[in-house]
Amino acid sequence: MATKTKHASPAKKLPKLPAEKLSSPPDQKFACRDCPARCCRLPWNIRFGSDEAKRYLEEPWVRERAGEEGALVIARGVLPMREKDRRLQCVFLDDDLLCGMQKRFGHEYIPRSCQAFPFGFVRDEKDVVVAQLSHLCPSIRDNYGEPVDRQLKDKLQQRGDTERMSKALATLGGVILAQPQYLRAVARWDAELATDASPAAILARLYDWTTAFERALPPGAERAADVSIDAALALAGAEAPAPLEPRKKPSFYARVLFAYLLGNLCYPSRVREAHRVGKASWTELHALRSFGNKAAWMLGRGTVDMLFIPRPFKLQRVRTVDRFLAGDEGTLVKDYLRLVLQRRHIFSAPRHLLAAVLDLSLATVIISRFARCRAAADGRVKVSAEDVREGISVAELVLLSHAALSEQGKLMKNLRWLLLTKRESFRALLATEA
Ligand code: SF4
Repeated sequence: MATKTKHASPAKKLPKLPAEKLSSPPDQKFACRDCPARCCRLPWNIRFGSDEAKRYLEEPWVRERAGEEGALVIARGVLPMREKDRRLQCVFLDDDLLCGMQKRFGHEYIPRSCQAFPFGFVRDEKDVVVAQLSHLCPSIRDNYGEPVDRQLKDKLQQRGDTERMSKALATLGGVILAQPQYLRAVARWDAELATDASPAAILARLYDWTTAFERALPPGAERAADVSIDAALALAGAEAPAPLEPRKKPSFYARVLFAYLLGNLCYPSRVREAHRVGKASWTELHALRSFGNKAAWMLGRGTVDMLFIPRPFKLQRVRTVDRFLAGDEGTLVKDYLRLVLQRRHIFSAPRHLLAAVLDLSLATVIISRFARCRAAADGRVKVSAEDVREGISVAELVLLSHAALSEQGKLMKNLRWLLLTKRESFRALLATEA
């Protein structure tokens, strides 16, 4: 793998794009190497445009490789996957873990999202194009390779598009905040996350602070005036923050969250996706075992085989692993949450301001639980920095980077709304890992 790169830049010169101001985290590096094709072997939808789907369906080699079932998936704009070694993998991935489509037709032929991975782009409030570098990729996670800033232009060209930040977000009371207004609240969140406290305690405070800020805005106004934002910001911090007491057992909603997001990463749940080909080989036992995964997470008992954890482990063992958010490893989580705010992708969909605090909180709880699972599987009682970094890559996969909110099921949407509107449930979720 070290001598051949899967996602090498194309030799062909690409047409020039107008000059853009580009930005990426300082000193970040990337090179696609030494990795067993992680991005081609995940339970996710790799999407492409209708122009690309048409091109693929007209190509006999692609049709033969994908088969009839796969051609139907391609027509829906998704790469078909099959099960291999208890994981889903792209049907075009060869046994040498290189992309068969790229080997045959060149880098510029494969879907744009594959060419550009792990890069995405969001245009920020100053019209700067900010690189979204997925920490799911080991190169980004471990910061190895070549400086990213020299690769941005090519990757933007390969990607072909940028997402935009939402021009406005709403409060739960229905007041519309213009982009410069909601970013003033976001600056406050960022400053809080730079403090020494545990991320769970900070997020509990941010929920209360944001709710107080929203309530301090004049009721009945459809759009907030700058002067009322000034007044609400001054009022919001007036009350003393309520301390967050750790819970001994996961709250009900934490268990639902684990069952839904982490349960879906367990075998065989992780291979039961709509874009999988070879469904005929599925058995009812698979469906039953998949249900069993969710039940195990709800009860916190039973053995599960989870993605990115080398061996199956007993869920009961996780409670023997120390919580870490208030310690040094918690700083890795805070740094990541600040990065999420800075890269602006979290503001690319129009929704409630408080939903961004909720997303950061869900990510924190998932990172912590995953890291503790990884340590438990290894027989340790303390998590390592490596456990936390893998937890961050899981949060990227299931929540913050790759899982589009529009694709999340009804259960997750209802859970999010309940947590958004019920303070005690929200705090109990954070207290599960505090
Ligand atoms: S996950 Fe990263 S390093 Fe691995 S194959 Fe994909 S782009 Fe390359």
